[in-house]
Amino acid sequence: MKYIFGNWKAYLDYDQSNILAHQLLDIQIPEGVAVVVFPTTLAVPEIEKTLQDTEVHVGAQNVHWAPSGAYTGASAAALFAQIGCAYALVGHSERRHIFGETDDAVRKKVEACIESNIAPIVCVGETKDERISGKAEYRVKKQLMKAFDGLELADDQQIFVAYEPVWAISKGGVGEVCLPEDAGEMLSLIKAELAKYSDRDIPLIYGGSVKPENMASYLALDLVSGVLPGHASTSAQSLSKMVNLIVS
Ligand code: PEP
Repeated sequence: MKYIFGNWKAYLDYDQSNILAHQLLDIQIPEGVAVVVFPTTLAVPEIEKTLQDTEVHVGAQNVHWAPSGAYTGASAAALFAQIGCAYALVGHSERRHIFGETDDAVRKKVEACIESNIAPIVCVGETKDERISGKAEYRVKKQLMKAFDGLELADDQQIFVAYEPVWAISKGGVGEVCLPEDAGEMLSLIKAELAKYSDRDIPLIYGGSVKPENMASYLALDLVSGVLPGHASTSAQSLSKMVNLIVS
């Protein structure tokens, strides 16, 4: 199975998100490809309904760990599960770096997803400074350890790890390029690290300025089961281009 996880971030407003969702009604998803879109939270329930009879799944960009309680502004993993979401991004670098999400919070969110039958896509990656100062591997290993050490996974629990070098994630579509060979090196390390915590073959995803023009170069890496485009997933044209390219 190959995956396209389209993170719409906060690029689109409510109406634009719903228009894009309706355009996706026409996309044919080939066998062996899974497409999940992650709209802005307020649009998720409506888009979940729009796409419920299609092969395009809808996920959460972020979840809160507690199912209910005194957590102003929080939307629980359980709440997303209740409206039909089966996937969630957890620990995206923008959550970690802009909103101060810690490794401990990421762990709680991973566990909350598992309890709610949601497949977490655990995002890891180093900043530019960490890469320059030779701390990239340390950072990624620590993020993985915190998320996976002692984590209990039922046989049918889906879980993913997305390697997203923070410096390669675009701002409005413009980002630095992480060469596929550099991504491949880190993905090998991630695979070896994950083997310490789980005997499961956890699918690995690459994200960082992925678009139709470069997607194939990342998917050509043996270890890559899919891609996580942000900006390039916010237009029906480029999203459908990627869907069509993934099998050809
Ligand atoms: C992302 O949303 O995780 C991402 C990688 O964004 P972009 O493709 O725009 O770099």
